[in-house]
Amino acid sequence: MAKDYYEVLGVGKTASADEIKKAYRKLAVKYHPDKNPDDAAAGEKFKEISRAYEVLSDPQKRSQYDQFGSDMFERASAGGGGGPGGGFGGGFGGFSDPRDLFSQIFGNAGGGGGFSFEDMLGGGRRTRRNTKGSDLRFELEIDFIDAVLGADKKIRITKSDLCSRCHGSGSEPGSGKKTCPTCGGSGQAASSMGGFFQTMAACPTCHGSGQVISNPCRSCHGTGKVRVEKELQIHIPPGVDNGSRLRVAGEGEAGTNGSPAGDLYVVIKLRPHNVFQRNGNDIHCDVPVSLCVAALGGVIDVPTVSGKTRMKIPAGTKNGAVLRLRGKGMPALKGGIRGDQLVKLVVETPVSLTKRQMELLKEFQAEERAATYPQQEEFKKNAEPFLR
Ligand SMILES: [Zn+2]
Ligand SMILES: [Zn+2]
Repeated sequence: MAKDYYEVLGVGKTASADEIKKAYRKLAVKYHPDKNPDDAAAGEKFKEISRAYEVLSDPQKRSQYDQFGSDMFERASAGGGGGPGGGFGGGFGGFSDPRDLFSQIFGNAGGGGGFSFEDMLGGGRRTRRNTKGSDLRFELEIDFIDAVLGADKKIRITKSDLCSRCHGSGSEPGSGKKTCPTCGGSGQAASSMGGFFQTMAACPTCHGSGQVISNPCRSCHGTGKVRVEKELQIHIPPGVDNGSRLRVAGEGEAGTNGSPAGDLYVVIKLRPHNVFQRNGNDIHCDVPVSLCVAALGGVIDVPTVSGKTRMKIPAGTKNGAVLRLRGKGMPALKGGIRGDQLVKLVVETPVSLTKRQMELLKEFQAEERAATYPQQEEFKKNAEPFLR
């Protein structure tokens, strides 16, 4: 769909770069999603004006737009790659994130930290930074069997938590706030950004709130947060694998100014097992069998994660043969079908023979025929030219 970017920004076709910037700024501040958190239409509008600005603020893109219209930009942005933009010297790689664009243009007056729209607002608004706490990551190594059966594990993490003395306010109980001495309560400070942005920066001392703590909490020194070591019980569901992430809501770093805490992500690492190996939802297991059982057939005990199973071995079983035990593998993490156990039979050559055993094997050897070893016969035939 064709869009008139000039109309979107409310400027004429001959508008100067400065006029375009001013028009964008006015609209972007009005429709910014941080100011209209529950208004989807405002969010769309914000995207639209950001796109229009992105094109019209770039002389090359603006001239392409003037010639060819918005279609090439809108289409390139919708994905697709290449597209009709391909023919226009380098094309157009789609639009930036509107929020990134916004903070690029208006800068992050707070310096460092997360971009906060409120910092950009003029008009003496008294706002505070509300930032959700960061997520935490904890690597938890567990036994193979815990991954099969599930388990409850205790872990100890170190994180920031709300200070219990001041409940996160940063003020010593009973004391309040006072007017910020840096900005005199306006919440704003002149910035070095120049132009009309000069009055847009939040005061670095009070972060725009206009107030500072008069008597900092003794426990947290006014930060409202303290480092704590915490023990948590983690429930590990059956079927987890290497790299599985378990989310523990609200157990990340504490938020600022009453914002929610981040989440804790427990990342599972499986200790290798000396009997079972996992392959997807199947479990592999090498089981040694004697030469006699492999030749004569028999019944062997096979370990499974749910205990012993007896398995019939047919006569003449080859070394490396794989037998399948249905439903004895890993439980599926998100419902679904349980895996199988694959049993690989490893025929073991007998060693430490008694004199009697040696005699018996020599007797056996004397009875060998071509049909006793079909693999050897086949091999001899194929390798014949190279055995001369
Ligand atoms: Zn405190
Ligand atoms: Zn201040």
